[in-house]
Amino acid sequence: MGLAFSDFEGQSVHIGRLQEEFGSRTFTHAYLFIGPAGTGKRSVARLCAQAALCRGEQKPCGVCGPCKRVLAETHPDFHIMTPADGKREISVGQMRELIHEAEVHSFEDGVKVFFIPEAEKMNTAAQNALLKTLEEPTSQTVFILCTVHASALLPTIVSRCRVIRFHPLTQEQTENRLRALGMEESQIAIRAQMAEGCVGQALALEKETISLRNTLAEQFFSVHTYSDMVSVVNTYKDDKENRQKILDLLEDIVREILCVQAGVRSAVVLPGEAERYAGTVPAQGGLALQEKIIEAKKMIKSNVSYQSALELILIKISEEYSRWPW
Ligand SMILES: [Zn+2]
Repeated sequence: MGLAFSDFEGQSVHIGRLQEEFGSRTFTHAYLFIGPAGTGKRSVARLCAQAALCRGEQKPCGVCGPCKRVLAETHPDFHIMTPADGKREISVGQMRELIHEAEVHSFEDGVKVFFIPEAEKMNTAAQNALLKTLEEPTSQTVFILCTVHASALLPTIVSRCRVIRFHPLTQEQTENRLRALGMEESQIAIRAQMAEGCVGQALALEKETISLRNTLAEQFFSVHTYSDMVSVVNTYKDDKENRQKILDLLEDIVREILCVQAGVRSAVVLPGEAERYAGTVPAQGGLALQEKIIEAKKMIKSNVSYQSALELILIKISEEYSRWPW
């Protein structure tokens, strides 16, 4: 079964209104969806396009020809603009072609939908070209722009669009959503927590990343002595490829530890040893560790050896354990 507008009700207060406007073709000429990655902006943009082009009763029906063609990205009146192959930006040349497309008649029944999933990739010249079209809109054309960073857009673009904000969900809402999407029960709590309420990110997390997080939580937080430390350092010091990821995951684990220490959350998604740290060491120890991780991240950016960065973190963990014996 395909997605529906109702699946995104928690992400924005405007979901119902979008369905109404696109389904009845009373949309305004341009929308700008702003919000963190994984909060449903692009999925909702596609649903809007389906609703506008659908020939079913309840729009979008998801089963008529136009709905299916929008999903398959083969509908001639649904245009998606991304940077050309190998390019980082959307150029003014591409934008001029798109605008020309907007000026000619639609292929099917009158409505044309232009979708720019990463609007911040339009360079300034491309944005200026688009601006003219947004100033003189044609009634049967609608632009949907999505972005994480509205600051990368010209203020004049933003002011000509109806801005719709998308938000992360709560932990509980995210879990319910993942459950509804049929995710395996053992993956739900951990993914919801790691993605901080962004369902798309929770879905995109790789199983290897989750298992690496669990392994790190077990190994790093079982370090009490110098020899414990040496063995952990030796396990990770040569893993150049993952070093940023490892520090990011450690930071995420410590954030979770701080939540547990503050009594905000139960330790449900912390593997055993990290949970023990959260239970043994008071919040000041969690904060001190967080500082060390931030420091370690700065160290690897300034080319201090990765081994020293790991040692800094591990020494702090063993120090805190010895200060707060259990
Ligand atoms: Zn349909």
